[in-house]
Amino acid sequence: MAELTPMMQQYMRTKEEYKDCILMYRLGDFYEMFFDDALVASKELEITLTGRDCGLEERAPMCGVPFHAVDGYVNRLIEKGYKVAICEQMTDPAESKGLVEREVLRVITPGTVIETAMLDEKKNNYLAFLHSDRDVAAMAWSDLSTGEFSVRTFAIADGWENLFVNELFCLQPAEIQASPYMAERLKNIEWPRQIPALHIAPEEDFTDPEARKALEKQFGRQPLEELNLSDAAIQCCWAMLHYLYQTQKRSLKHFGRISVQGDQSYMVLDMATRRNLELTETMRSQNRRGSLLWLLDKTQTAMGARCLRGWIEHPLIQQKPILERLDAVEWFTENLMLQDELSAYLKKIYDIERLAARIAYGSVNARDCLALSQSLAVLPEIISLLQEAPVTLIQTLCGRIDPFTEVTDLLNSAIAPEPPISVREGKMIAPGYNEELDELRAASAHGKEWIAALEASEREETGIKNLKIGFNKVFGYYIEVTKSNLAQVPYRYVRKQTLANAERYITQELKEMEETILGAEEKSVRLEYVLFTGVRDYLNEQVPRFQQTAKALAAIDALCSLAQVARENGYVKPDIDESGVLDIKRGRHPVVEKTLSRQQFVPNDAYLDQDEGRLAIITGPNMAGKSTFMRQVALIVLMAHIGSFVPAKQAHICLVDRIFTRVGASDDLAAGQSTFMVEMHEMAEILAQATSRSLLILDEIGRGTSTFDGLSIAWAVVEHICDDQILGAKTLFATHYHELTELEGRLPGVKNYCVTVREHGEDIIFLRRIKRGGADRSFGIQVARLAGLPEDVLKRARQILKRLEEADINNGSIGANILAAPGASSAQIDLFVPVQAAPESNPVVEQLRDMDIGNMTPVEAIGVLYDLQQQV
Ligand code: ADP
Repeated sequence: MAELTPMMQQYMRTKEEYKDCILMYRLGDFYEMFFDDALVASKELEITLTGRDCGLEERAPMCGVPFHAVDGYVNRLIEKGYKVAICEQMTDPAESKGLVEREVLRVITPGTVIETAMLDEKKNNYLAFLHSDRDVAAMAWSDLSTGEFSVRTFAIADGWENLFVNELFCLQPAEIQASPYMAERLKNIEWPRQIPALHIAPEEDFTDPEARKALEKQFGRQPLEELNLSDAAIQCCWAMLHYLYQTQKRSLKHFGRISVQGDQSYMVLDMATRRNLELTETMRSQNRRGSLLWLLDKTQTAMGARCLRGWIEHPLIQQKPILERLDAVEWFTENLMLQDELSAYLKKIYDIERLAARIAYGSVNARDCLALSQSLAVLPEIISLLQEAPVTLIQTLCGRIDPFTEVTDLLNSAIAPEPPISVREGKMIAPGYNEELDELRAASAHGKEWIAALEASEREETGIKNLKIGFNKVFGYYIEVTKSNLAQVPYRYVRKQTLANAERYITQELKEMEETILGAEEKSVRLEYVLFTGVRDYLNEQVPRFQQTAKALAAIDALCSLAQVARENGYVKPDIDESGVLDIKRGRHPVVEKTLSRQQFVPNDAYLDQDEGRLAIITGPNMAGKSTFMRQVALIVLMAHIGSFVPAKQAHICLVDRIFTRVGASDDLAAGQSTFMVEMHEMAEILAQATSRSLLILDEIGRGTSTFDGLSIAWAVVEHICDDQILGAKTLFATHYHELTELEGRLPGVKNYCVTVREHGEDIIFLRRIKRGGADRSFGIQVARLAGLPEDVLKRARQILKRLEEADINNGSIGANILAAPGASSAQIDLFVPVQAAPESNPVVEQLRDMDIGNMTPVEAIGVLYDLQQQV
């Protein structure tokens, strides 16, 4: 250390404090990185690695980025999961004698980004903290860019990990910090790829005895006792807040309240269901395009877009709030003109929520203020449009919008029309806002005119025709009078300098003017900053009001968006109640119908109830439209729970507590599990968590194993679900096991449905219509033909099928011999030998059947086994 240059020693001391960060160290116009940081950054950012003398024999590896482009580079490092510490020069290098003082002013981590350019405006950017004690697991999350601060606790009981990971999956945090204890608990859990890795935070951050007090200091306006938080939750919240203080190094006033989340008021959707129903992104490409969110999002503001995403991720489960939303959507659909006008106003509104966060954060600039004032200016219009609305929810939301007239007035008078991004260059404050500033500006702009005018007036007053006002660097402004005119010089002139044939003077007035002119520019920039800070402080006081208004606007925007989509796509308002009856007439799949033209999509009815029609078994060939139909029902039910209109002619929806789906192959395959394991695992979860009020969508259960196994499992699952003593959940069950259709009539509650097709010679035509009854055939070969399988393969398949069917009719089981086709090799036939039913009269079997295993000792059992073996 001692050998290092003083600057490098300073660097090393700073680096020691920010070991886990890439330290960007300001050196003049660059941010430099050294040693390991330089090696990592040069690679990640693809910038040249150089070196710098550091006092040691070898030069220190170094790379750097220009200060004006730093955001882009920081962004790239953050996206790759690094933390970046920004170390600034605290003294002016031109003025400081020794080493320039430097200080880390902020640490940027993936979960604490606030720069607009680094954020997705339609998505929250969450930091999550996880902690647990013996009985409770706590999860806290915050969005620094909006001021959201939430916490949720989970009782540690069977299966809590699932709920916990599910919630994280839904949040999609950008960064996760866990206490060592929690990390230990989660060690053996399968961590979904979509969730970022856990960082382990120091244990002492979660054991602060002063945690409650510290939280109270931040969230003073909200009495903490009322939240009834457990110790784990308190520690978790404080650890997160502390981390935010440590990285941001400033007060974070926009975190005004802790919102305590629970699952009482929202429908829990597990990971598989979110993915299968493609709620916010498609399964295959993980794109927004093609998802339900993409379809429903016609919002005009970023706040509205985030709000709608939240609604889709957290459907409601109580009738009243759902009806309130539905009524609001209905009112908008009926008041087209008003909605258009409202949309036009909303379009003018910037992201007030994030602006408020930047105000609180202290990073707001004059352009942001301009954006804010433009946004606030339309609020009175919005209020007057909505205040007469005869709808409860709109009334409530409208009441929460503050007209902010005094803030708009202030901003209008204070902020210049085209301010620069920087707050240190002036040109941000409007003329007329501050007298002193106006004078300063006038001084620098009109300095020459003033001097000329003064010169003229002095000439006139003194009668000295050749009197002139000049300027030099040493004396500043002066009045020059030639020797011949000295007699006319008035007393108020003060002599400053004598030249060969002239004298130079100053006057009180000229001195003042000089001060005004010379210092004007510099002073005006400084004054502008002070004035701007004043505006900023004033805005800072209003942050909670901005946040409340932003939330209300977001909800109005989301409701409007739902109304617009409903109108454009011909949706209807669903009836929603506790009746337990689900009755959809001419329902459509909202997304698939958009990819086809409207006429092409064949609408279908769906009916499920709590008695005779609990479970629908749906058969039909591949590609007939089974999954589309089932997803369509799930989506319609989900949309109704969001408060959206639904794609149907008429829809009666009963409240459900959860929607479960088991559809298609899941992408955990990449994680090394077999399709069958994943399928069974998901099925087990569903059976464990579903209630009689749930809706289950099960597609091809049992497909991943042998026919008999699969059929047996599917059969048993249907029995289990259908039995209202056990589960009795409403279920759509698509299957290619036609045998299951036999359950109708045997099991109460089962009804068969099939998707119709029409045969046309060798081809089939998909009619896409669901009707009562089981499908009579699979049409697999026809579908294979449509898919372009070679003709000789198809021919051979038809042959085999024919024989199999004949055998099936003749002896009820499949025999190997019947598969022998002319010319087929025996190897081929062997492949088809199925698990054969044991012959009726086999003595070994008889003996086995008669054995009373329960009453045998192990030795007796071994004896019998030995006998049996002798006989085969
Ligand atoms: P299955 O699950 O029976 O194999 P899918 O539900 O995957 O069949 O449907 C196959 C294709 O048929 C879908 O991609 C869709 O384009 C089309 N389709 C499904 N249902 C309909 C419908 N009701 N109207 C029009 N086209 C449909």
